[in-house]
Amino acid sequence: MRKPKVVVLGAGYGGLITVTRLQKQIGANEAEITLVNKNDYHYETTWLHEASAGTLHHDRARYQIKNIIDSRVNFVKDTVVSIDKEAKKVVLKNGEIEYDYLVISLGAHPETFGIKGLKEYAFGITSIDSARQLREHIEYQFATYNTEEEKKDERLTIVVGGAGFTGIEFLGELGNRVPELCKEYDVDFNKVRIICVEAAPTALPGFDPELVDYAVNHLQKKGVEFKIGTAIKECIEDGIIVAKGDDTETIKAGTVVWAAGVRGNSVVEEAGFENMRGRVKVDEYLRVPGHDEVFIIGDCSLIINEEINRPYPPTAQIAMQQGETCAKNVAVAVRGSGEMEKFSFDNKGSVASLGENDAVGVVFGKKIVGTKASFMKKVIDNRALYMVGGPSLVLKKGKFKFL
Ligand code: FAD
Ligand code: NAD
Repeated sequence: MRKPKVVVLGAGYGGLITVTRLQKQIGANEAEITLVNKNDYHYETTWLHEASAGTLHHDRARYQIKNIIDSRVNFVKDTVVSIDKEAKKVVLKNGEIEYDYLVISLGAHPETFGIKGLKEYAFGITSIDSARQLREHIEYQFATYNTEEEKKDERLTIVVGGAGFTGIEFLGELGNRVPELCKEYDVDFNKVRIICVEAAPTALPGFDPELVDYAVNHLQKKGVEFKIGTAIKECIEDGIIVAKGDDTETIKAGTVVWAAGVRGNSVVEEAGFENMRGRVKVDEYLRVPGHDEVFIIGDCSLIINEEINRPYPPTAQIAMQQGETCAKNVAVAVRGSGEMEKFSFDNKGSVASLGENDAVGVVFGKKIVGTKASFMKKVIDNRALYMVGGPSLVLKKGKFKFL
């Protein structure tokens, strides 16, 4: 008898949790499981701000997928180009795969809101490739500074667009990395500018105001200048144009980093599923309405928080929880018997790191700051490893430097 084909797209948090659960929950005779990912490694998206600043080597933030999946899973290293939902087929750069059940967990793309010049001139914090490129670029600016007869101070200006969690965490790493770079390349720290531009009236919009103050004060002490209530309007070859009310300003900078939001992977939009900025509002079982054979999880999915009638923000926390439910529901679908589980998000809180030894967060409803919060952040990072690869992965890749 022909076995149903289950295809999982993306080996990030959502995809790997789904596959590691499926390989336990589905018997070898019940279904064929295929995992597609553009690299043969998984990366911890939640650690990319460290790799991008150069405070953590990028190899620390990734591991081989083959060490996590078992022989039941057919791994295909390839890039998803498109999904033909009517023909139940995924088009890859190097071939095609048919499916009976599809799990889409392809993560996010940067949301640039159509702002001119961002795609050409700004860096993103999106993958191992982008992290390596950004780290190298910043280092190049420092290395070049003293070689030029006429010193260009703007080489040493780093602009970070967006003071959301990603922007703030990256600034926290820069706060530690820049003094190291100054020392290594004989650059006067006073020549360096780290500028954060945030359009909203506050950094970390929506987060606890006391914790926002703590984070902003901490970063200011490390030399970060905040331009709050100021929007990036355009990115140019040598900087950005910002606006506050009717006033515009050009800021010359050697490095511009766009960390001002995400949308779902464009593959999802292009597949023709009804979506809001690349995110599909899935049903309570994580399926696409009208396509019971397609499950979408992680940053490509959208689930409403009924308490405030707004979507839950896309996080690794929700992606991993969705992965657990998704695996159970795919198993039910494959068997054609049993009851699917309704997804309900158990929000344990969130912690933003401010460099290696400081952080702010709300965990189980309690506010925490400083080394306590930083400790908790590392526990969360290690827990994510544990959930996917058990204790051996934690021992290989975990963070154990707590002070
Ligand atoms: P991802 O984990 O991003 O995985 C997507 C996978 O799909 C990747 O392996 C990618 O290579 C692959 N892929 C993408 N496109 C293709 C394609 N076309 N073909 C084949 N493969 C493809 N959330 C938290 O809860 N806590 C945090 O502390 C936290 N910190 C963060 C820090 C940073 C710097 C950033 C950027 C995000 C952070 N987030 C955090 C958000 C979190 O990382 C995402 O919500 C989470 O990664 C989403 O999981 P996912 O499975 O949807 O996608
Ligand atoms: P975000 O949408 O949370 O924040 C983007 C910020 O950019 C907002 O504050 C917005 O006002 C600002 N912005 C938008 N347009 C702008 C413009 N033109 N000029 C200046 N500022 C502008 O995006 P993010 O920080 O990338 O986070 C993405 C998701 O990942 C979120 O769900 C977040 O919760 C999650 N995340 C979580 C953690 C954590 O838990 N530690 C860390 C990083 C990211």
